[in-house]
Amino acid sequence: MAGFKKIFFLTLTVSAGFLAIFWRDTFDSELLSGSHVLLTGASKGIGEQLAYHYARFGANLVITARNEARLKQIEEKCLELGAKKVYSYAADMADPRNPGMVVQFALEKLGSLDFLVLNHVGYDPLMMWNGNAENTNWLMQVNFLSYVQLTAAALPALTKSNGSIVVVSSLCGKIAIPYAASYSASKFALDGFFSSLRQELALQGRDVSVTLCILGMIDTDSTKEKVKNLDVGLVTAYPVPESALSIIKGGAVRAREIYYPWWTTLLVSVRDWFPEMREKIIRSSFQEKSQEDGD
Ligand code: NAP
Repeated sequence: MAGFKKIFFLTLTVSAGFLAIFWRDTFDSELLSGSHVLLTGASKGIGEQLAYHYARFGANLVITARNEARLKQIEEKCLELGAKKVYSYAADMADPRNPGMVVQFALEKLGSLDFLVLNHVGYDPLMMWNGNAENTNWLMQVNFLSYVQLTAAALPALTKSNGSIVVVSSLCGKIAIPYAASYSASKFALDGFFSSLRQELALQGRDVSVTLCILGMIDTDSTKEKVKNLDVGLVTAYPVPESALSIIKGGAVRAREIYYPWWTTLLVSVRDWFPEMREKIIRSSFQEKSQEDGD
């Protein structure tokens, strides 16, 4: 175990050095000024900050989530921050009729679409899977199938504009952790679907970029609530506005994947070296404080 940790941290350090030397930020905010953006999960957390950043960059926005009152407040703030136009549409992505209606609304209001930013998420409490397959089915609709349905409805418009699909995923969609079986399944599904779609679009000569955003733990209210009964060991939560900005930049420069914080890319690149050891380390950093799941 000690040998593995040494190799692992040495790899992290060497790779960090390479990243620091060779990485260049090619983002230009002009790429977003006047762009047409449909953003989901915009009523709080990372989505709310995504909306504010797009607004500051002068985008035209359609924002969606379920909480209509909150969306209206965010709409007003976006206009104050510099958005050219902002419209909101309240919809529950658990209902498979809604993704198509959201895209139709966005196209009616904006006329075209440059960015489809898929960010909304239904969360389970962090707990062991309790055999409730119905709940997994619901989570797959909200976190995965609705992303596919939104994409299906938006693809013709994105193809016309040579636009971009930005998919917000998680380290849990690259490396599975305990207490998140259904969530992890939905995020792995996003990786499979959108990584395949990216290649199919290229094979068809359609210039629509697909950016998969891999996030570590981010300091949103939802995350704070979820992890309050767990000792998550070494893992720190990173700032919400900064994570949102990295997503926006990745989408704007048409990156295939972005990783935030930066070191998550290194975890993913070494994830298959010693799988059993990896799972042992992960398990040891998830010590439950509470005796009962979900307390
Ligand atoms: P959050 O604060 O809980 O916000 C989730 C958003 O999704 C809200 O706007 C919520 O609005 C909306 N939403 C939830 N259920 C919905 C439904 N059934 N239909 C439509 N909208 C729904 O989440 P977050 O932490 O910002 O996460 C944003 C993204 O980052 C997610 O894709 C998540 O997987 C990813 N991520 C987050 C973290 C983290 O630590 N925070 C880490 C890795 C990845 P309403 O309640 O108004 O519907």
